Amino acid sequence: MKDLSQLKSYIAQVYERHRSNNDGVVATYIPELGKANPNHFGISLVTATGEEFSVGDSQQEFTIQSICKPLAFLMALEQHGREETLRHVGIEPSGEAFNSIQLDALNRPFNPMVNAGAISVANLIKGSSPEAGVANFVKRLSQAAHRELRVDQAVCNSESETGHRNRAIAHLLRNFDIIDGAVDHTLHQYFSQCSVLVNSRDLAMIGATLANIGANPVTHDEVFDMHFVKDALSVMLTCGMYDFAGEWAYRVGLPAKSGVAGGIMAVVNRQLSIAVYSPRLDARGNSVRGIQVCKDLAEEYGLHAFDFMNFGSNFIRAL
Ligand code: GLU
Repeated sequence: MKDLSQLKSYIAQVYERHRSNNDGVVATYIPELGKANPNHFGISLVTATGEEFSVGDSQQEFTIQSICKPLAFLMALEQHGREETLRHVGIEPSGEAFNSIQLDALNRPFNPMVNAGAISVANLIKGSSPEAGVANFVKRLSQAAHRELRVDQAVCNSESETGHRNRAIAHLLRNFDIIDGAVDHTLHQYFSQCSVLVNSRDLAMIGATLANIGANPVTHDEVFDMHFVKDALSVMLTCGMYDFAGEWAYRVGLPAKSGVAGGIMAVVNRQLSIAVYSPRLDARGNSVRGIQVCKDLAEEYGLHAFDFMNFGSNFIRAL
């Protein structure tokens, strides 16, 4: 039986193993993201019982980017319920790039993990004023991370100034009445959500809150409605890793979401979360070292949801 202390030392080993890998490039299409130090590398683990472990640059902040998407989807479900939310966004993998401008046969975005879907979801939770909607989102994420989070205004402005494609997507959605009101209000919500600053430890704590069915493992506050946590985890499993989603589900088998700033948050249901920060990305937009770390851990510990070894459940018993 493998226990938590073994897992911690294995994480430290995996960190050393992949540390010297300099493959991939930092995203620059949002100019401000190009300023990231490509060498940064942090791994964090938080269990559903609140045990924490980190190695490397786990305090280094970066913007959450697309990892905000499943969390925003969860909030939309809480506010509007399943039926209404799914009138505005589908749950089908698109097989298209994250910034694809395509919609499904009902003129909905394919799923909440592509930009079109996330913009539609941002519209559902945007609040009565631009400030209120963003403040509410940051507050919920802070509760999940158990730390006061904030928006990086420089990244938000950088994306707002250059995000013409997202602007085009939003106008297309407005044309089909998938989103309502002022397009700029929705985009402000979306760009701000993507610009929340986190570190790998925050992501692992947020992931552990999902693993713990919505309750933060340290404070025990019910941050997310437990009825909708499975909705978020399902779309993470099927659509969370860009064009690598199918391969990821097959090889790693964990609900996860990556972001273009270099973060990955992976969840082992009911047990733990692993988060990695390393800003060098592969051609599909996933963190190179992040993918390797998750693959190694899933393989060594049988974390794949359908692995016959699935030793994961032993961590809880070992505590
Ligand atoms: N804010 C980014 C965009 O809309 C998020 C992309 C990502 O992390 O996948 O382009």
